[in-house]
Amino acid sequence: MAGHVHIVGGGLAGLSAAVELAGSGVRVTVYEAGPACGGRARSYFDRHLGCRIDNGNHLLLSANDAVFRYLGLIGAEKTLVGPDRPIFPFVDLGDRSRWTLDLSRGRVPFWLLSKHRRVPGMHLGEIRSLDRLMRATPGQTVAECLVPGMLSTRLLAPFAVSALNTPCDSGSAALLGAVIRQSLAKGGRACLPRFPAVGLSESFVDPALDHLALMKAEVRTGCRVSAILSAGGRVTGLRLPEGEVALDEDDRLILAVTAPVAADLLPDLRVPDAFESIVNVHFRLDEAPVALGALGRARFIGVVGGISEWVFVKDDILSVTVSAANRYAARDNDELAAVIWGEVRAAVGPALAHPLPEDMPPMRMVRERRATFAATPVQERLRPATRTVLDNLFLAGDWTATGLPATIEGAIRSGAAASRAVRDPGRR
Ligand SMILES: Cc1cc2nc3c(=O)[nH]c(=O)nc-3n(C[C@H](O)[C@H](O)[C@H](O)COP(=O)(O)OP(=O)(O)OC[C@H]3O[C@@H](n4cnc5c(N)ncnc54)[C@H](O)[C@@H]3O)c2cc1C
Repeated sequence: MAGHVHIVGGGLAGLSAAVELAGSGVRVTVYEAGPACGGRARSYFDRHLGCRIDNGNHLLLSANDAVFRYLGLIGAEKTLVGPDRPIFPFVDLGDRSRWTLDLSRGRVPFWLLSKHRRVPGMHLGEIRSLDRLMRATPGQTVAECLVPGMLSTRLLAPFAVSALNTPCDSGSAALLGAVIRQSLAKGGRACLPRFPAVGLSESFVDPALDHLALMKAEVRTGCRVSAILSAGGRVTGLRLPEGEVALDEDDRLILAVTAPVAADLLPDLRVPDAFESIVNVHFRLDEAPVALGALGRARFIGVVGGISEWVFVKDDILSVTVSAANRYAARDNDELAAVIWGEVRAAVGPALAHPLPEDMPPMRMVRERRATFAATPVQERLRPATRTVLDNLFLAGDWTATGLPATIEGAIRSGAAASRAVRDPGRR
């Protein structure tokens, strides 16, 4: 194609589309409203803590094919790290029991047969939950598919809340089933936990911007698009802070903004309209703790029976993730952080070489109020396809119909799908 592709939104969906297109010689401009690209997956210097942090901990899996393709294109595969085995340490704050889920590498789940590798207290009949989730119909919720027992309480329910960012009684079983088919069902090799060695921007954003600069793509930050102009069934222009940009006959637009912004810019578009928040609390210690055993190898631990869900150990920062956090919206930051610090001491303290202080260290709480769309059956039906009624307009974003919940994998897939559709606009 000869035209110019305008990409509105410099989150990972927009960057993924830009990298794919610029790499195949297409002229690309990215317009990002914020001061930096990355959107909901970004790193920044936090003045209070005096160090760089991510807006939220992001956990990926080796099964995330689109992520690794993207990282390969921008030369950043080695920036993700994680244990060399598919291990997931857990602690139950109820009875203080600890275990490490140690998945078999291949597809045959031998780990389920070993009491030392599976969830303590589970019974094998509970495995039916996995089958039910993978066969779920579009209207079913996760709670409807879970067989009661420890596998559900200690693994499947926490996994569902993290993967969907939605409570089990409203979360879509079909979406969770898709995640299971693309990870756990493929075996441990597909479930190696991965996270950025330095930060989200250092893995996903900065190398992409370097690559785009090399490909002579233009990236304009601080540039909010306030209107999309259309006539005759196609987009004809964009309104920017400094005036309008016209789109020629061969030009295309990829709209890779958030769902609410897309609905504002395109009033006829139906998009997900219910959201869930995520809370992250970053505690800065005086010095980097020495983590022992499975925590030392994995660098994170799953927490059951509290508010905290995951605690990550990263240099001198202990970071806690709380998903589906609308339920904590009314809680005061300091009070919530104090409860969470108590949980961190109980969850991580015993697995460190030196005890954690009783007093809460300096902390930053980041509440992402619209972290993701609520992954319910109703919201799933509102997710639009890549192509739109306007010939040269394509959609990308984790809220489009990717078949996955709102994740980095989904966002990057959506950008790649938009780039393919742009190059083949005739096929509908
Ligand atoms: C706290 C948190 C934790 C998460 N944890 C995980 C995890 O563990 N694993 C995982 O896979 N995923 C996780 N996610 C989800 C993941 O971050 C998102 O799915 C992904 O980053 C979404 O990318 P996106 O490009 O679709 O959207 P966004 O990142 O929202 O990008 C949209 C971009 O459009 C820009 N924009 C908006 N309006 C305009 C405008 N008018 N003009 C120009 N630009 C505009 C925005 O500034 C933004 O940069 C998490 C998300 C959060 C918030």
